[in-house]
Amino acid sequence: QRYVADAKRYDSMTYKRSGKSGVLLPAISLGLWHNFGFVDSLQNGRDILRTAFDLGITHFDLANNYGPPFGSAEETFGTIFKNDFKSYRDELFIATKAGFDMWPGPYGNLGSRKYLMASLDQSLKRMGLDYVDIFYHHRPDPDTPLEETMGALADIVRQGKALYVGISNYQPQETEQAAEILKRLNVPFILHQARYSMFDRWVEDGILDTLEQNGVGCIAFSPLAQGLLTDKYLKGIPKDSRAGKDLTYLNSETVTSQIDKIQKLNDIAKKRDQKLSQMAIAWILRQKQVASVLVGASSSNQLKDNVKALDCLEFSEEELRLIEKIIS
Ligand code: NDP
Repeated sequence: QRYVADAKRYDSMTYKRSGKSGVLLPAISLGLWHNFGFVDSLQNGRDILRTAFDLGITHFDLANNYGPPFGSAEETFGTIFKNDFKSYRDELFIATKAGFDMWPGPYGNLGSRKYLMASLDQSLKRMGLDYVDIFYHHRPDPDTPLEETMGALADIVRQGKALYVGISNYQPQETEQAAEILKRLNVPFILHQARYSMFDRWVEDGILDTLEQNGVGCIAFSPLAQGLLTDKYLKGIPKDSRAGKDLTYLNSETVTSQIDKIQKLNDIAKKRDQKLSQMAIAWILRQKQVASVLVGASSSNQLKDNVKALDCLEFSEEELRLIEKIIS
């Protein structure tokens, strides 16, 4: 069935500036780490992407190795893009990355120019795109000179394969150095993608300040701590949840060890007339450096739910104090 985007798609989403750049991002963006592999339902993926765009979510985040198998999320995205979104290309801000293990041998991982150049070419092919809006170095590589990695990002922009560049998972000092090099090379460095949630606040210790000083925005990933900061685990671990599927990145022990806090946070959310997931997103959006909160969703209903976070973004001093007591 042919897709026609909702005519009202820009009526309610909030857009935030990424650092001091010209780019506005939706306050909530969609990541394709899970739920878009060949192991997942294409129809469900299509439903999530259509719902996202209809809600004003213009930013989709991918990486070379999202799947499983590696590369399959980009291929799935390419299939859906070709059928549904081709005519909306200029309304979309599409990201991909390289930096983690992707193909065998010495050139399919980390931060060499050799790897980044080849990986982006592969990604563009899989997605059926001429360029991405932003290309990230996915994680720091301690053994490759930063000059080389940043130089590759610069040339990628000059070749027209990416409009902007970003980094992910870099520590404050590495971020500062990357910013210096990219400034010197005249490359638009607009985003640092970092894990940030009520359960993981490492960015508050240096990253956010560094970004502000350099006019770079932060996009916060795993804002729901992969689903922990929702109501889904309150009555046990559903079989079809990320923790229930026993995937590598979230296990049942983590759920059990956090359930007390989750329960308490859920009570605060209820008093705010909000779901815990919505409160968790609103809590991150308080930080002025955060240009967007990057959520995942295994259904379009989850995404619709999460976007309602924007209906209640304010916190009282008392609420903030109570939350702090639980999470600190
Ligand atoms: P979240 O913390 O938003 O977790 C998303 C998961 O939580 C969903 O897949 C779903 O899991 C559950 N969920 C979401 N909304 C609801 C809801 N309303 N009610 C109940 N459960 C809900 O983010 P992710 O960990 O998925 O990360 C988001 C994106 O960030 C990724 O897709 C990727 O683009 C990016 N990322 C980047 C990394 C990097 O190194 N740069 C690393 C990790 C992520 P379930 O299957 O249980 O329903």
